[in-house]
Amino acid sequence: MIFEHDVVIVGSGLAGLRAALEIAPVADVAVISKVFPTRSHSGAAQGGIGAALGNEEPDSWEWHMYDTVKGGDYLTDQDAAEVLATDAIRAVYELEHLGVPFSRTAEGRIAQRAFGGHTSNFGEAAVKRACYAADRTGRVILDTLYAEALKRGIKVYSEFNLMDLVLNGGAVKGVAVYELATGEIHLFKTRAVLLATGGFGKVYKVTSNCFANTGDGVYLAYRAGIPLEDMEFVQFHPTGIYGLGVLISEAARGEGGVLRNREGRRFMEEYAPTIKDLAPRDMVSRAIMTEIRQGRGIDGRDFVNLDLTHIGKDRLAEKLSDISSFARIYLGVDTATEPIPVSPTCHYMMGGIPTDVDGRVLDERNAPVPGLYAAGECACVSIHGANRLGCNSLVDLVVFGRRAGKMIVRDLEHLERKEFPETAGTDVVRQIETLKTRTKGERAAAIRGAMQQVMTDHCSVFRTERGLQDALAELEILKERYQSVCIDYRSDSFNTDLLDAIELEYLLGLAETMVRSALARKESRGAHYREDYPERDDDRWLKHTLIRRTDRGPEISYKPVTITRFQPKPRTY
Ligand SMILES: Cc1cc2nc3c(=O)[nH]c(=O)nc-3n(C[C@H](O)[C@H](O)[C@H](O)COP(=O)(O)OP(=O)(O)OC[C@H]3O[C@@H](n4cnc5c(N)ncnc54)[C@H](O)[C@@H]3O)c2cc1C
Repeated sequence: MIFEHDVVIVGSGLAGLRAALEIAPVADVAVISKVFPTRSHSGAAQGGIGAALGNEEPDSWEWHMYDTVKGGDYLTDQDAAEVLATDAIRAVYELEHLGVPFSRTAEGRIAQRAFGGHTSNFGEAAVKRACYAADRTGRVILDTLYAEALKRGIKVYSEFNLMDLVLNGGAVKGVAVYELATGEIHLFKTRAVLLATGGFGKVYKVTSNCFANTGDGVYLAYRAGIPLEDMEFVQFHPTGIYGLGVLISEAARGEGGVLRNREGRRFMEEYAPTIKDLAPRDMVSRAIMTEIRQGRGIDGRDFVNLDLTHIGKDRLAEKLSDISSFARIYLGVDTATEPIPVSPTCHYMMGGIPTDVDGRVLDERNAPVPGLYAAGECACVSIHGANRLGCNSLVDLVVFGRRAGKMIVRDLEHLERKEFPETAGTDVVRQIETLKTRTKGERAAAIRGAMQQVMTDHCSVFRTERGLQDALAELEILKERYQSVCIDYRSDSFNTDLLDAIELEYLLGLAETMVRSALARKESRGAHYREDYPERDDDRWLKHTLIRRTDRGPEISYKPVTITRFQPKPRTY
């Protein structure tokens, strides 16, 4: 079928829904989502949304901006960080007015808690900046925005999968979409497309991300010739449940939890003497891995303990109830009396589709691609630089989702729906037919498992030239094996087997961009730690990586970092 809308938003997480709310009063906007909207991964966010409200302790947006820039190891674009920190305050009150049930202080204000890397007075001490609703902050915001979208009559196409961007003469004219229930391929003619498709933690074996986080929008933009920015910067959250990767939010440490090694020692005191367990995530993950490598994991094994026992049963039930139930369900651990075994888990992608502060996607010349926008985790604005601070994603989604929506409304005046190419969607039909008719070959799961292992072994918390070269060679072999990927289920109805195989192409493509970008960056900065280049090198590497698909293979180039208020200096806590 052919559908027509002024604007199509792909993704119904917080970024996509916030943008949709902005556009709905003035234009016909539709939202496409491969999962039911409230199952979008934003709903899994636990700990909080960052804004310098100063409800519990003195705070200021300048301190928030400084922390964001320093947390990002000075790779953050400071114009974007300023937008984030100043607009965060308005954005949180807006959510409150929409009905988000935030936890409250005794005086009835929005309650706030400490989070990693957020400090008062430019680094003096940890500050309570994360606004929260117990440990289900993302859940309540997502439900509120979705209810608002329904109230405003926004059309949502649920379980519709973006398969390709439709371009004509460099401008985006629509999308090709696969309907899960029927197996039909639909074309959407539109004047503007906003990608809000989230992250791609499924590149790794152990991750806090859900099955849907396969980087579809990011890969499809790359396949269409858009460069990807800073793909080497992958966040490993320090406290995933050991072996599973299920997240134990930083809120647990914000509420007083501490990490301990096999000696029972609170080891973060040595790595970050000022803010200890509330150091930024890249530092805490490296500290945990160092303890493990030096034999101080629990019982000499590859995990440490997160100790919440001193917080008290009542406070755990009030503030960290979901986390406590995860520990009970997955491990049989009672957080009031026993520590939780944890190790780093792949959590967030700092890199993605380059945009300006108004969500316009930028090409290799840094010029906006007509009709194409991106927001949320799939985008790289770049606010988070080389390492995102906790509680800065949720606020990024609502601040930059709204800005992208506003920009689209402004641009609609000159964006046309005509000139939809006749060949649109034919590649997708061919791709699906090939997969459905191939009778011999390898299952996607085997190739995906091998890719996840390679990425986990060679492109995670610590990296080396040798390991990354090995990863690249392995990925080449896996890409070759992918050419004969084969599915078992051939029905048109709810064929997730088919989608798994298609998403594997995306994951393999993104893994390659990550490894190539990591190989090229010969320094250590934020989450990208090269054991063979352990220092940050501002003279050579204070720049963003761009990787672009060309006929000659992936090509790397660089673009400058925007520095306004804060000159780079050593990053200590
Ligand atoms: C367990 C966990 C806890 C977290 N806690 C916090 C926190 O406390 N504070 C914080 O700031 N951040 C937190 N984060 C990070 C934050 O939740 C995410 O970065 C953020 O929610 C991403 O939002 P998004 O709108 O970009 O995408 P998502 O919410 O991931 O939504 C992506 C959307 O894109 C759609 N989509 C994807 N591909 C396709 C396709 N091919 N076709 C159609 N639709 C598609 C999906 O259906 C979905 O609707 C947490 C992350 C995790 C994993």
